[in-house]
Amino acid sequence: MSDELLLRLRRFHDDYFPGVAEQFQDLVRDGQHPTILFIGCSDSRIVPYLLTGTGPGELFIIRNVGAFVPPYDGSAGYHGTSAAIEFAVLNLAVSHIVVCGHTHCGGIRALYEETPPQAVNLAAWLELGREAVLPVQVSPEALRRTEQRAIVLQLERLMGYPMVRERVESGDLALHGWHYVLEEGEVHVFDVRTASFVAAAHSAHSGTGPYHPYDDAGP
Ligand SMILES: [Zn+2]
Repeated sequence: MSDELLLRLRRFHDDYFPGVAEQFQDLVRDGQHPTILFIGCSDSRIVPYLLTGTGPGELFIIRNVGAFVPPYDGSAGYHGTSAAIEFAVLNLAVSHIVVCGHTHCGGIRALYEETPPQAVNLAAWLELGREAVLPVQVSPEALRRTEQRAIVLQLERLMGYPMVRERVESGDLALHGWHYVLEEGEVHVFDVRTASFVAAAHSAHSGTGPYHPYDDAGP
């Protein structure tokens, strides 16, 4: 049986890396200084670098089922997402946090369905989106609205992290809520002033969260 993954590793090293070797050597010498924390769903159809036109060293990325943010409740635990948020804000001093959900999200759909009995961690994790669930029959429209409500919920939860709140209030950090429409290749960004998602083509900004500086620019 051919080892397809091994072939891909060799191809990366032999064919791709020589073209970017200098860039990576600079990033090793100077360290990483990403300005954006990207919190996205693990869904394989989201490709953050393609979506944002970024490359190595530019995005600090957290991915999990649903693009969820656990609450900051002051208790330490094995929360990879919370640990990475703290690192991104306190150590890397990022100036943007993007929460990127998407259409056809299996994590959001799972909120309306039963999870396999063995998936105890998944079942507990999905509760982080429970407040976004609508008391209606599941439908494409209900799922889309739930996906968007879940994004806003995570932005609100981010504000519960003291280091996030401080920097948002001082204007050093902006929060962005994104709903990525996979089939159209377009992100709808959250506008806190109208409490709605607007297609990037028609938005004056790249998305806002609570207490964003754009608040002051509005009518
Ligand atoms: Zn998803």
